[in-house]
Amino acid sequence: MSYTYDDQNIFARILRAELPANKVMESDLSLAFRDIHPQSPDHVLVIPKGPYVCYDHFANDASDAEILDYTRLIGAVIRHLGAEASVSDGYRLIANSGVNAIQDVPHLHVHLLAVRPLGRMLRDRSAP
Ligand code: AMP
Repeated sequence: MSYTYDDQNIFARILRAELPANKVMESDLSLAFRDIHPQSPDHVLVIPKGPYVCYDHFANDASDAEILDYTRLIGAVIRHLGAEASVSDGYRLIANSGVNAIQDVPHLHVHLLAVRPLGRMLRDRSAP
């Protein structure tokens, strides 16, 4: 499977410091910053620094080091926010990938939403 990465997407421009970001944490291979249109008091996006379009692209093609770094940064951000499910009311991770999920920015990002109750995962009951 081949993926076409658009290096003009917004998150690629943030990584090149062409656009500002409200940075939360950074590691060698990953970056976490606040969503510009937050849907909960804490709404953080975590992205790998490499050119990966979506979750399956990353999970299948990224190096072990990138995957480890990314997973660890997500964990560190959850801890930084005090959102661990063991010590708070928890959080939700969302990785919209492709058309069905209405992925707007074609650079892998995980949404980390915390602080408020987030409701059921899916509300659209028109589909099976
Ligand atoms: P998605 O629909 O999963 O692709 O989500 C893209 C997210 O990126 C949305 O929640 C936007 O609010 C967010 N977003 C777009 N531009 C920026 C930006 N410059 N800085 C931070 N977040 C952004």
